[in-house]
This record gives sequence, C-alpha cells and structure tokens, in this order.
Amino acid sequence: MNNGWETIIGLEIHAQLSTESKIFCGCATRFGDEPNANTCPVCLGLPGALPVLNRRAIELGARAALALGLSINQQSIFARKNYFYPDLPKGYQISQYDQPFSANGELEIMTAERDDAGHPIEWRPKKIRITRLHLEEDAGKNVHEGLPDVARFSYIDLNRAGVPLAEIVTEPDFRSSWEAYDYVNHVRRSLQWVGASEADMEKGNLRCEANVSVRRVGDEKLGTKVELKNLNSVRFMQRAIEFEVARHIKTLETGGTLTQETRLWDEKAMKTRVMRSKEEAHDYRYFPEPDLPPLIVSPEFIERVRQAMPELPEHRRDRFMEQYGLSYPDASQLVSERTLGDYYETAVEASGNPRATANWIRSELLRELEASGLSAAESPISPQNLGALIRLIDEEKISGKQGKDVLVEMFRTGKSAGSIVEEQGLVQVSDTTEIDGIIDEVIAANPTQLDSYRSGKEALFGFFVGQVMKASKGKANPKVVNERLRAKMQSS
Ligand code: ADP
Ligand code: ZN
Ligand code: MG
Repeated sequence: MNNGWETIIGLEIHAQLSTESKIFCGCATRFGDEPNANTCPVCLGLPGALPVLNRRAIELGARAALALGLSINQQSIFARKNYFYPDLPKGYQISQYDQPFSANGELEIMTAERDDAGHPIEWRPKKIRITRLHLEEDAGKNVHEGLPDVARFSYIDLNRAGVPLAEIVTEPDFRSSWEAYDYVNHVRRSLQWVGASEADMEKGNLRCEANVSVRRVGDEKLGTKVELKNLNSVRFMQRAIEFEVARHIKTLETGGTLTQETRLWDEKAMKTRVMRSKEEAHDYRYFPEPDLPPLIVSPEFIERVRQAMPELPEHRRDRFMEQYGLSYPDASQLVSERTLGDYYETAVEASGNPRATANWIRSELLRELEASGLSAAESPISPQNLGALIRLIDEEKISGKQGKDVLVEMFRTGKSAGSIVEEQGLVQVSDTTEIDGIIDEVIAANPTQLDSYRSGKEALFGFFVGQVMKASKGKANPKVVNERLRAKMQSS
C-alpha cells in the first residue's frame, strides 16, 4: 500500500474475434491487404446498405464469454453509438448498450505482487466482477504521414471497419497494477485458448484501456479517474498505471486537484500525457439499431458451443495436479499455453514419468525454446523424443547430466536421443568394479577430508560424490556412486 493511499483500477478490453469475414458484411478480415481492398457498401457506410449479422461472430463471442465463465443473455440488442470521426463512415458504430450479450459475471484469476526484479512473490486467487461483455464492430484506421507543419498527409484505411469485437468491461476491482497485469494475461490466454481471438496486443487485435484513480485507505468514495490509452503491451499497461498512481498521489498530497481525462502512455518518455479532457467527452445518443432485429441466443446454441470447446485452462491445471501429481507452479506453467499442455501430455505418454517430464520441460526445454523464440508446437524436439530421452535416464542408460547435454544436441539437430547417445558413445557407467576403482583413487587423494568425515563432518560426503563424478567425467551412475562410496568410507 502506498503511504495510506489505495489504488483503484477498472479495465476495458477490446478483442477482435477471429472470424474470416466482418460482422455485418461478407468482406474479409485479413490483415495486411492493400488499404481499402476489403470493403463494400455496408462497411463503407454507403446510403441504403443494410447490415446482416455474421453467425460465426456470435459463436466466437459465445466462446469468449464461456471461456471467462460468463453467462449469455438470451436476448441482446444492437445499438447505434453516434459520433463523428473520419474512420467511421456511417457516423455511428453498431455496438450494444443497455442489453448486452453478457453482463454481471465474475471471474477468478490468480495474481501476485512482484519483487523489485519483477518476480512473483506469492500467487493468490482474486475475484474480478465483469460488468459486461458486448459485441460491436471495429472502426477503420487513420494513417498519418509526413512531418507536422511541413507536409502532412492523412489517409483512411477501412479494411478494419466492421471487424467484430468483443468489449469486456470490469468493475473497478483491481487494487494494484500487477492485479491488472495478471487479469489481462488471464483474459488473453482464455481467448486464445478457445480460438475466440488471437488476442495479440502488439498486433493490435487486443486493445486495453485502464481507468485509474486513488483514494485514502478507508474512504468509500472513488477518486477522480483517468483513462489510459495507447497501451501496446501488458507490461506497458502495468508501467503506465504505476506512473499514473504516483502522479495522482503526488498531485493530491501537494494540494492539487485531478481532472477526469484521457491520457496516452508514451513508452519512450515513460510517462503519460493528456489526450482529451472530460469536456470533450462525447454524448453518444445511443438508440436501438433499427436495421437489426434483437439477437436471440437459444440454450441449445450455447450448449453446442460449449460442447465444441476444448478443456479450459483452469480445469486442465487442476486435472494435471490430480492425475499426474504435479505441484501448482508446475501445472500452472504447463497450461500457460494450450500447445504446451498438449506437448506435456504427449511427452508423458512416451516417458511414463509425469513428474520428471514436467521438470525437464520447465527447466531444460523451455529455456531452449525461449532462447530461440519458439513455441512448444514448433519445438525441434518432438514430445515423443523428449519422452524417450527421459526413459533413457530412468532406465539408467545415461545419467541426468548427460541427458542435459543430449537435450541441447537434440534441440540443435532434431535427432532422437537414442541416435545421439549412440553417435557420441555415451553410456552411463553402472559397473561397480570400474566405479570402485575411481572411488579408491579419490579417497587416496583426499586423506584430510576423509579424516574430517570420519570424525563427524557428514557434509563432506557430498564433496566425495562430486569428486568421483568429476573423475568419471559425469558418466558414473550417481546412485551406484552413493551406495559404494558410503560403504567404502565407513569401512576401509
Ligand atoms: P465511462 O463512462 O467514463 O467510460 P464507466 O463508468 O463506464 O466510465 O467505467 C469505465 C471503466 O472505468 C470501468 O471499467 C469502471 O470499472 C472503471 N471505473 C469507473 N470509475 C472508476 C474510478 N473512480 N477509478 C477507477 N476505475 C473506475
Ligand atoms: Zn464490407
Ligand atoms: Mg471508457
């Protein structure tokens, strides 16, 4: 808590739904086409053109709602939100207002404060009230070129106009920037998981606005809020909130007042600046869209959508803990992406060892994947091959240490563990005569340490194990080394 001040945040997320065509016409939603190539009389807003609702947008909207644990209203109404802007040729956006697709939900997320290095301290559950999830169309894009005051050109690209969006609004339930951060990541993953949206903030198909205010701890009344935009990543959003909270507290503590306004985050300058004040706020004059009938969603439709959805991440995490005996952090990380969870389950089938497989993925494979910027689905090591590697270790054909080197080689070459082990002549030495020989040498070379050990300095045992492993160039079977070493050090 900030010196007696409490942070209050509410979030608005716009997510583009992954349909092939727009929400009210048949134009493609493809990204990167020639400007204005994907337009027609409907999305250009030409007089007399009529919208027709895209059924797929409703399906994906339903997936989004269900993935967030929200219920879907049997009837919702499209409404016109009127404002003038060049990227909105109709002069209004078709959205939803007082009867949205979904309302009054609650979502449980996992969240943690972070230490100075940005590492989570302790994860805990937190409930966030979702005010509404409604469906609407996206606007086009204004593109500016040239230098201000010299030569400035503005263009309009309407390819994005009419792309379906789900807008998800929360109650002001976040109490820190990290809670907001964890929530946006939760929503992103849920939407990606069920295929509702690509939810990529850098590509702009998930956009986030943060409403921020502060109040004295114990106060009921909410403080003056500021709306933050231009948040191009979850981390930027978190930083923008931190900046804004500090600015609010400083302003109030020095006797200043805050104005309700919209501010933009400038990542280079690491600060926010005013975009518009409340006086410039729009009166949208909402009214029901006369060209579209009420949207009726039957329970059967919702049930069909639900049936077609994959197992949700939270369910899968709990199942991993139960079925495979994994810890919470292991299971959580393995469901951070759907393809990683799939990878894990296939690898376990091949290895027969769920815990070791979780460890190998978390400590070794993910490091390699991260270093080369690949996802689990793109891993040069197939899950079957990883499983086979773990089997070789469990069967004591190679040591764990050798396994780590083999994994790096597998990642580099895409070869199987078996063929690398053969090529490099790797074998784990479990032969007791050979190991005994090494142990005798090590003991003979370290008489002082041996004396200390015998007079009670137990910790020196580890030193001897290390020496033997080193002398065997990592090839000795550690289990055999332990057994033989203990026997020899006590008796001889
Ligand atoms: P507006 O009409 O300005 O968009 P809303 O009441 O619709 O305002 O709220 C928009 C978002 O701002 C919601 O997520 C809501 O939870 C949040 N919010 C409202 N008041 C505050 C406040 N005082 N501090 C922080 N967030 C707030
Ligand atoms: Zn169109
Ligand atoms: Mg708003």
